[in-house]
Amino acid sequence: MKKVILISALLAASFAGYSQTKTTQCTAITKKGAQCKLHTSSENGLCHLHGGTAVKASAATTQCSATTKSGQQCKHRTSAANGKCFVHTTKA
Ligand SMILES: [Zn+2]
Ligand SMILES: [Zn+2]
Repeated sequence: MKKVILISALLAASFAGYSQTKTTQCTAITKKGAQCKLHTSSENGLCHLHGGTAVKASAATTQCSATTKSGQQCKHRTSAANGKCFVHTTKA
């Protein structure tokens, strides 16, 4: 089962990377001829109004409410209605 733990660690690492994504100012030009003032973390440099594909940094994610084997709260974040991350949801 060590592989499962390793994969979980990798996933957690990539999740952490997501939360630290840098935001940049939207590169689109508004109708007024000024650069859009919104910030975005999307790869194409556009905010959500201008067709960006940003991961919503302000999305309502909560920390998984499940408790790990070590007795600590799961560090994964989730937007699932049941408050459990994918790891703890699939185990039902
Ligand atoms: Zn914009
Ligand atoms: Zn969890």
